[in-house]
Amino acid sequence: MTEPFPTGRAAALARLADFTPRMGRAYAEGRNTDPGPGRRCDVSWLSPAIRHRLVTEAEVVAAAVAAHGPRPAEKFIQEVFWRSYWKGFLELRPGMWTAFASARDADRAAMRGNALARAEAGATGIACFDAWVAELRETGWLHNHARMWFASIWIFTLKLPWTLGADFMLRHLRDGDAASNTLSWRWVAGIQTPGKHYVARADNIARYTEGRFDPVGELEEDPRPIEAPPPPRPGALPPADRLPDQPFALLLHEDDLHPESLLPAGARVAAIAGVAVPEARSPLGCSALVTGSVGAALGDGLARASARWGVPAPRLALADLPGWAAGHGLPVVTPWAPVGWTAQALAASGVPMRRLRRDWDEACWPLATKGFFPFRESIPTLLGRLLPDQAIASAR
Ligand SMILES: Cc1cc2nc3c(=O)[nH]c(=O)nc-3n(C[C@H](O)[C@H](O)[C@H](O)COP(=O)(O)OP(=O)(O)OC[C@H]3O[C@@H](n4cnc5c(N)ncnc54)[C@H](O)[C@@H]3O)c2cc1C
Repeated sequence: MTEPFPTGRAAALARLADFTPRMGRAYAEGRNTDPGPGRRCDVSWLSPAIRHRLVTEAEVVAAAVAAHGPRPAEKFIQEVFWRSYWKGFLELRPGMWTAFASARDADRAAMRGNALARAEAGATGIACFDAWVAELRETGWLHNHARMWFASIWIFTLKLPWTLGADFMLRHLRDGDAASNTLSWRWVAGIQTPGKHYVARADNIARYTEGRFDPVGELEEDPRPIEAPPPPRPGALPPADRLPDQPFALLLHEDDLHPESLLPAGARVAAIAGVAVPEARSPLGCSALVTGSVGAALGDGLARASARWGVPAPRLALADLPGWAAGHGLPVVTPWAPVGWTAQALAASGVPMRRLRRDWDEACWPLATKGFFPFRESIPTLLGRLLPDQAIASAR
């Protein structure tokens, strides 16, 4: 049995309601423990839903604040802000995504022998690692601590290029995200915060898997960090667009599937369509499970949008996008696609689009200029600015 990962908003809201009572002390105390598939109760499993914005960061954080108050739910709230921080970090440095893709392709071309194939098949002989490969392939998800151990073993024990590990995870994760995945792998390797790497240790794995694994003597526990140039300096956040004063065509994609909270009441939506290109995550595509999960999320977003604005909402192939846009002859409005494969695909379609950014992103992303700890200092101010008044009021 594995966790039920919501692929629609109704199920995501139900999961959010279910987990909200555990967002306080239970989360802070239990979030690092990974008791294994079907037994995890101290993390939310909401990442695929948040990643597609079937529920928004604002909704999840508001639930935590309203139920527990900002201090008792601090740890949970911070984790959600890690997501916003990583997104902002990449948005201010879009070249890191293209540099990752080039390095990944060069690393793959330079691979010799079958160590990579053994790792991807979960046939390394390191029981915990092989089990995580199987779990990732079967469920499309791994616990955060398992992702950290997995990446560390990939880089420092198996001595495989970090780029190929990041690519492997991205192809299999339901919540696969250009910013969180790439920058977390860089962090483990010691190139995100130069010189500070994350080393997986047997005793830590034994403790936090509750003894399911005990890889004593199997891991490289004294490695040097990977050497690479530090992240580039941040640029400015490109400006977002405004809604046109006339009827428009709404284009949905996998990065933001809650148009009901993105668009103002009275928005004049005259046509709707959706595109998803999960296979563009990697030159090797993505797993069938990921394709299905992204397709279900997009279908859910389109069905809600169609019901809300009373127009059909088909899913299009990317190649049909220019014809759809020309056929309607309306301005095309779309939620901001952050740096990653969807933004690249939409730009390559050649269709002019007005890209709308949420207040959440507008407030958080420009703050991702340095490390997470300076960013974290801004969280209380961000909460005051971004949460609905009733969330703050019910926390008092
Ligand atoms: C090597 C590596 C790769 C990762 N790749 C991805 C990825 O592609 N997509 C992705 O969404 N997350 C990624 N993460 C972050 C994290 O592992 C997952 O977001 C988390 O495990 C999701 O489980 P949950 O929903 O139960 O999280 P919870 O612990 O319940 O946290 C609530 C929410 O906070 C956010 N969050 C929690 N931890 C982190 C974190 N460390 N970084 C960013 N956001 C976080 C997620 O949106 C999550 O749903 C990666 C972490 C590592 C170490």
